[in-house]
Amino acid sequence: MNDKNEVLIQVQDLKKAFGKLEVLRGISTEIKKGEVVVVIGPSGSGKSTFLRSLNLLEVPTGGTVLFEGTDITDPKTDIDVHRQKIGMVFQHFHLFPHKTILENIMLAPVTLKKMSKEEAEKKAKELLQRVGLADKADAYPDQLSGGQKQRVGIARALTTTPDILLCDEATSALDPQTTEAILKLLKKINREMGVTILLITHQMQVVQMICNKVAVMEKGQVVEAGSVLDV
Ligand code: ADP
Ligand code: MG
Repeated sequence: MNDKNEVLIQVQDLKKAFGKLEVLRGISTEIKKGEVVVVIGPSGSGKSTFLRSLNLLEVPTGGTVLFEGTDITDPKTDIDVHRQKIGMVFQHFHLFPHKTILENIMLAPVTLKKMSKEEAEKKAKELLQRVGLADKADAYPDQLSGGQKQRVGIARALTTTPDILLCDEATSALDPQTTEAILKLLKKINREMGVTILLITHQMQVVQMICNKVAVMEKGQVVEAGSVLDV
């Protein structure tokens, strides 16, 4: 990618407290377009809170988050516009059990009236192809393995053609081989679609398998950040 030096998200002195509990204690970092960044740290260090602050699912109690130059912590900013550029992938997939795989992927864009049913179906089929599940369109979530469910989770997160995928422990429920396959898929999406990836994890092997930048979180702060060899 030739736009690697463009900043996608700039975080300045980000703070979040729940009552007296200070969960984020002044995080400053930036994520550039096209990067694959892993945030690693022990349970309870504030990783999920940090990730959720990037699209205001948690409202910070201090600091700013600039998304493509716009301060999304400014109450005047229309966060819904930015949320469409941010896809989310979760540890436990969050698929609707009584809907088919195709329906699960089409649901958000159709419900939010962002696409017609026909458009959403076309897009969902394209994305299923991309994540290697073209033959599972009419299956139900409980007919899929964990790795396949996460592929669906990734396809669903891509329906709005986001600039970034925020992945919260996306491989933590998976065995090592499946973890590797999912990380390869994320890397492919990064390379082929130019989607920036931010992955948070407590699993060291994720760092070794995927990222080109790593930040270590501890007790609500980034204690170390650096580049690692692109693998
Ligand atoms: P991690 O993802 O690194 O495990 P979290 O961001 O989930 O960490 O949580 C960090 C800390 O914030 C934990 O002590 C957790 O209990 C607390 N916390 C998270 N969300 C809330 C909330 N909504 N209300 C109160 N405390 C919370
Ligand atoms: Mg977490």
